[in-house]
Amino acid sequence: MSAAGHARRMTTNTNILISGASIAGPALAYWLRRHGFTPTVVERAPALRDGGYAVDFRGDVHFTVLRRMGILADVERQRTHMGDMAHVNAAGKKVATIPSGMFSGDLEILRGDLARILYDATKDHTEYLFDDSITAITEDADGVEVTFERAAPRRFDLVVGADGLHSNVRALAFGPDRDFIEDLGLHLAIFTVDNHLGLDHTGMMYGVPGKTVGVYSARNNTEAKALFHFGSPPLTYDRRDVQQQKKILAEAFDGVGWETPRLLAAMGDAPDFYFDSISQVHLDTWSRGRVALLGDAAYSPSPLSGMGTGLAIVGAYVLAGELAAAGGDHRAGFAGYQEAMRDYVAGCQKAGQGVAKWTVPPENRFLAWFINQNYRLLPYIPWKGVFIKSIRKTASAITLKPYDQDLPATRG
Ligand SMILES: Cc1cc2nc3c(=O)[nH]c(=O)nc-3n(C[C@H](O)[C@H](O)[C@H](O)COP(=O)(O)OP(=O)(O)OC[C@H]3O[C@@H](n4cnc5c(N)ncnc54)[C@H](O)[C@@H]3O)c2cc1C
Repeated sequence: MSAAGHARRMTTNTNILISGASIAGPALAYWLRRHGFTPTVVERAPALRDGGYAVDFRGDVHFTVLRRMGILADVERQRTHMGDMAHVNAAGKKVATIPSGMFSGDLEILRGDLARILYDATKDHTEYLFDDSITAITEDADGVEVTFERAAPRRFDLVVGADGLHSNVRALAFGPDRDFIEDLGLHLAIFTVDNHLGLDHTGMMYGVPGKTVGVYSARNNTEAKALFHFGSPPLTYDRRDVQQQKKILAEAFDGVGWETPRLLAAMGDAPDFYFDSISQVHLDTWSRGRVALLGDAAYSPSPLSGMGTGLAIVGAYVLAGELAAAGGDHRAGFAGYQEAMRDYVAGCQKAGQGVAKWTVPPENRFLAWFINQNYRLLPYIPWKGVFIKSIRKTASAITLKPYDQDLPATRG
């Protein structure tokens, strides 16, 4: 299909508002623009959110999409180059090695660095509205009326929610979080600290029943990320109250040994702080009328799956491609997106469900011993390779339609 062909066919629904400027949102803006649509992105944060944790890509499909976007080399240039991680005891002595392929995939990059690459690839041809949020979406026969916290009301043809686990668009158009979020029984916190252990492209993890604390180096060892997981029933707290979340974390890890007190002490000065449940998102359908969902907002497989970023990138490619293939008709385009992605998403989410069980040592002593033995033997047992191959296979279990294979890769 030629560029001219796309331009001619895109007669309806050209004007598309995307909520969220992390991974899924800018990736969708890139593909929409390339197919001849006009995307606008609204992001609640006052500026692009840099920093953050490491995310990864696995298998051919992820690489193919990055290559077709023309950003694979940029991503590779900023890869973390993480090596194996060490499981340590309370004295900091290594008791087991976790091979890098298990937690950093085939290509690992910090989420903020990836967001920056995607933003740079789109900013010249996409309107970004930072420091704003949608307050209402009212659909009529020919479009949607959107109101914002700051900007004046505007009309768009379609709206896409790419605004993460607690999606604002999902809440406005589909219903409250509790209807769609499945809590996997763990909470997660991560923040940036000094690399005081002098870690060189590696990390350490320490576990006690129900809890794991870890630290890994980042940005060529110039800093480190402190990472905490703990088992808990769903917690009630104010999602905007960071001090309250820090208190919950400090209490959960009170009395835990190894480097934990030092890492918790550094939490006060941390330039960033992420705290949330480890959850998946499940909806029967990712669109309602002129509104669709993408990435974590639609089908978060949970941070532990190592699949969320790949799903966001692949989903953006497919959603824009299906809309283009339908000439902009949202009914056909959204249905095609659902059809093309459904089984793939189900596979990636399934892969994320089992991981929670292995992330923190269980309270049951026998099970804890068994898991520990597996970690110790990991470098020597054949299923390590099988495990890595199986995740790669899941991440590659979709046949990408070319959509625009004749179009040259563009930068925005
Ligand atoms: C600690 C951690 C580790 C992870 N590790 C991996 C990994 O190894 N591999 C992997 O593939 N994935 C990993 N993930 C998951 C990955 O980060 C997500 O799946 C991926 O970022 C999804 O991108 P997204 O754009 O859909 O959502 P998000 O990255 O959550 O972005 C949502 C965006 O929407 C914005 N937003 C929120 N509310 C509003 C609003 N009201 N209005 C406008 N904008 C709004 C947010 O500010 C944010 O910019 C990890 C996640 C975490 C938390």
